[in-house]
Amino acid sequence: MNFHIPFSSDWLELPDLRTISVFSNPGEKTVLVESLLDRPDCPKCRADARWVHKHGPSTQEFRDSPHGNLPVVLRLKRNRFKCNACGNTWMEKISSLDDDRLMTLRLRQFIVKRCLKDTNYSVADDVGLVVAPKSPDISHGAAWAAMNSRGERYPSDLCG
Ligand SMILES: [Zn+2]
Repeated sequence: MNFHIPFSSDWLELPDLRTISVFSNPGEKTVLVESLLDRPDCPKCRADARWVHKHGPSTQEFRDSPHGNLPVVLRLKRNRFKCNACGNTWMEKISSLDDDRLMTLRLRQFIVKRCLKDTNYSVADDVGLVVAPKSPDISHGAAWAAMNSRGERYPSDLCG
């Protein structure tokens, strides 16, 4: 079941992303988002934005902190840019996202706080990730490094 929610203020409340629509699926919300950032200067040769052109977007998914009791996935058509002065291409840098973990910074903070008082299983379940059962053969960190069907990893390294 999908439905569209009209927005007065932005549903996400993230500084550099805007909500396009929210879809409620069983057990999860998917939020279509777009970047609010202007075309940047080239990070390599410092040519100003007039030299920079969009170079084909790439769709990415990022976990966000739960909304109510439901895990949240952000689906972002992320801008790629090309500099006509030096030929450099790069992915738009969005400060509220953790690119290494494919999650928002606020979800990272949420997990760090929650796993101080809850089990990894419980935290992972609330944010829509999975953890592997501990194996006596592997070290503590590696034991939790499971991937879900989207290829997302529970950030065991955040939880000591
Ligand atoms: Zn350049």
